[in-house]
Amino acid sequence: MTTHNDTASLLEIGRERYVPVYKPRPMVLDHGRGSRLWDKAGKEYVDLAGGIAVCALGHADPELIDALTTQAGKLWHTSNVFNSEPPLRLAEELVVASKFAERVFLCNSGAEANEAAIKLVRKHAAAQGRTPDKRVIVTARGSFHGRTLATVTATAQPKYQEGYEPLPAGFRYVDFNDLSQLEVAMAGGDVCAVMLEPVQGEGGVMPAAQGYLQGARTLCNQHDALLVLDEIQCGMGRTGPLFAHWADGVVPDVVTLAKALGGGIPIGAMLVGDKAAQTLQFGAHGTTFGGNPLAAAVARVALKRIASPHIADNVARQANAIRDGLSAINAEIDVFDEVRGRGLMLGAVLKPAYAGRAGEILDAAAARGLLLLQAGPDVLRFVPALNITDEDVAEGLTRLRLALGDIVR
Ligand SMILES: *Cc1c(COP(=O)(O)O)cnc(C)c1O
Repeated sequence: MTTHNDTASLLEIGRERYVPVYKPRPMVLDHGRGSRLWDKAGKEYVDLAGGIAVCALGHADPELIDALTTQAGKLWHTSNVFNSEPPLRLAEELVVASKFAERVFLCNSGAEANEAAIKLVRKHAAAQGRTPDKRVIVTARGSFHGRTLATVTATAQPKYQEGYEPLPAGFRYVDFNDLSQLEVAMAGGDVCAVMLEPVQGEGGVMPAAQGYLQGARTLCNQHDALLVLDEIQCGMGRTGPLFAHWADGVVPDVVTLAKALGGGIPIGAMLVGDKAAQTLQFGAHGTTFGGNPLAAAVARVALKRIASPHIADNVARQANAIRDGLSAINAEIDVFDEVRGRGLMLGAVLKPAYAGRAGEILDAAAARGLLLLQAGPDVLRFVPALNITDEDVAEGLTRLRLALGDIVR
């Protein structure tokens, strides 16, 4: 029997036994179906957080469960010293779906995919005969590329880096969406790669301005640098097209994926186009769990489902519904300055009067039965399942209105 005591004692374990790097909201989630979740006390939630843009097909999707359990009865792990079918098929399917990649490196997380990309662009520069001081990687302020030492250095936000110095050398930061800064940053000829998110996620849900990625592509061509696009959050149908950069009309050299790639199973991938497909040769990189047959079997189904036109249609439909709902809420409770983003990656920017209160709003939302995310202290972030229903969106917005009412009062 589940009791309140159950939840209280579990929360205490978290407080006492986890390294306290997280501050999860005070419930214990137990099971889910579609875009609804239930905690151990039986309370129900509408999920507009999607496990941070991971659960793109919602919770307990029957086809994903079938892929997982079927593979679970066959083979869990081989290491990369031996072949198994699911990761081979997944690599082929990712290459075809990407329309640019020739090769794929499978790994386990976003940071690991970006770490691979960072190593690849350095190795590529080394192979061109560039000395280490001419292997600079340019990234954008407000970006987020992961928590390993190299990816946190690529992440041009001081709050993620503080205390971890000395940081790896060879990174340079520019303001996002400012092409003239990028031009200046690359003028010295020492840049080997530019790494950008087509829509910045953690940094506040900020889409690349029209022409920005194309401008970056041109500069990369001029300076013989590689263009790396981090689509870990914005990829996999999140913004409508399977890859966010399709809307920007650019062909990248490297794309990294993770989050929704496995529909909830940890997996990451680095996709590499022809220019650098041969850069990492035998022994140059590796990972024990990458391309794990369990994860790959689930990701194959997730990729097939997410790439379907039905999903793209629903993303457009529900993005409109959320935008309309937020406008209606704003007409009643004047709380948002703007709603930005693409597809089902939306950020509602709080008015100065509510600056810094996103966390508090998330608490109020959870109390009203709504799971939501923030992107910094001033932005509410909506990254629900891509197959979320009309009814779940409507109910989520109703609960958000109530939660905001609680805050305003
Ligand atoms: C989440 C995220 C990462 C890091 O992924 P992890 O799986 O947490 O390592 C990197 N880049 C972007 C854009 C992300 O949103």
